[in-house]
Amino acid sequence: MEHTHVLNGTPVVGGHAYGPAIWPGERPVYDPSDAASVVEDEREVEIKRFTDAAAAVAGRLRERASHASGAAAEVLSATAGLAEDRGWIGAASGLIKKGTAAPAAAVAATEQFATMFTKLGGLMAERVTDLNDVRDRVVAELLGVAEPGVPEPAEPSVLLADDLAPADTAGLDPKKVTALVTRLGGPTSHTAIIARQLGIPCVVAVSGLGAVAAGTVVLVDGTAGTLEVDPDAGDAAARVEESRRMAELVADWRGPGVTGDGRPIAVLANVADGRSARSATAHPVEGVGLFRTELAFLDRADEPSVEEQTRLYREVLDAFEGQKVVIRTLDAGSDKPLKFVTQVEETNPALGVRGNRIADEHPEIRAAQLDAIAAAADGHQPTPWVMAPMIASATEAAEFAGEVRRRGLIAGVMIEVPAAAVLAESILAEVDFVSIGTNDLTQYTMAADRMSAELASLTDPWQPAVLTLIGGVARAGAVVDKPVGVCGEAAADPLLACVLVGLGVTSLSTAPAAAAAVGARLAEVTVDQCRAAAEAALATADPAAARAAATAALAAAPGS
Ligand code: PEP
Ligand code: MG
Repeated sequence: MEHTHVLNGTPVVGGHAYGPAIWPGERPVYDPSDAASVVEDEREVEIKRFTDAAAAVAGRLRERASHASGAAAEVLSATAGLAEDRGWIGAASGLIKKGTAAPAAAVAATEQFATMFTKLGGLMAERVTDLNDVRDRVVAELLGVAEPGVPEPAEPSVLLADDLAPADTAGLDPKKVTALVTRLGGPTSHTAIIARQLGIPCVVAVSGLGAVAAGTVVLVDGTAGTLEVDPDAGDAAARVEESRRMAELVADWRGPGVTGDGRPIAVLANVADGRSARSATAHPVEGVGLFRTELAFLDRADEPSVEEQTRLYREVLDAFEGQKVVIRTLDAGSDKPLKFVTQVEETNPALGVRGNRIADEHPEIRAAQLDAIAAAADGHQPTPWVMAPMIASATEAAEFAGEVRRRGLIAGVMIEVPAAAVLAESILAEVDFVSIGTNDLTQYTMAADRMSAELASLTDPWQPAVLTLIGGVARAGAVVDKPVGVCGEAAADPLLACVLVGLGVTSLSTAPAAAAAVGARLAEVTVDQCRAAAEAALATADPAAARAAATAALAAAPGS
């Protein structure tokens, strides 16, 4: 009997892929110790040969970047930037000046930088692969051999590698390369970034990958983080088929958000500044459901001026001109401390002076922010919605709404505190809309720190207690016909999104990259199925049972 061998790694992008393995093409074979030293009067010419080669490599990468978009364009430009780096070029030129041949100088200069990056650790260490890629391309150029890279596979294949440089992965055709699996790399490496953009399954840090030869048939499970060598063909095909069907729906999904039976559910983006808002427009989102304003000021010692804030808010409004934008006032404190909001040391900051509570002590900070939002909104359509974080009572909601409406803006609050969820009806009487922050609502409902890894099963928005509170808020919204959105991480989970709609939530705001998966899933289900899923989940005792119950309810035929 065939023996299936399973290798484990870190899951990066979910989904299944099945096919023969391919490995990237050979890197140029070059032994720097073979290089003869360059005689003195040829050294200037050798330096020029090196700088020309680096410029040619950078130029080709920039040319490819100009034809790519999104993350692919960004990684190609970043790699071109390494080939143009003055420090690296200076180090290599310095070596050539002392007689080292250009290819050997490229190798030695790269080694210096790689050692430095590795010492810095984290994100910088993950850039070593990109540096080595630039080195190999420049060495190939100097030797006059073909530029290294990924071969064009004859049939859909799984690309295995030690690690993939951005220039290898950018521009890959996801129909030909159906998954990426690497021996090295982390969840923030370029391999991971590109896999997310291509929407193909990806597993990194797989030990033992080197033993899997090209041509071996493999099954990648990007959700579990595994690579099965020689799996059962029938089983593999069925698992791939279901995930392919869903992936195609996700790739083709263009919005707007609507259930299979026609109920509109806006799918919106969570953003942090102008840059993230502009990049969110590349995703099928219908506006911004949460602009976390405090994130732009985390490193600021002084309060930004009204003018500076106005410019920032205008950037986000400009990116989504003509579309809904929900701006949240500063959620300072606890996990997002702001230096310019003076706070005494608190023993329990999550329960302390955070969010809208800073306005008690510093009404001028909130007033300046609202002035800036109103100035940014001047001339923009539609009028932005403005909401406060950490509201606990109807009195707080009424006070905030007064300040917002005085400036001609649309007023709402976040429901993040269980007290606000319990009394949602009286809160909704004071405002035009609410948005449920499931991250904090879960933390406060379950009395479990959202930053604690040990408590992850408690800080799970699938907890039936959390779902029960969300259901109550949505019912209160339906009674007065006011929008009830969700903007916490819960909205990014396609299965949970169906449950939220079944509970009565009217819009979902997620990290932009998650929007298509959420929208495509909603398009597959009816509101009745969502209601059945919500009811089934509410009747369970824990998150795992809630997920299983919702899955089963959605799999049942509508009306059955
Ligand atoms: C939330 O708590 O769910 C939320 C959206 O706000 P933040 O994550 O910024 O606290
Ligand atoms: Mg919150």
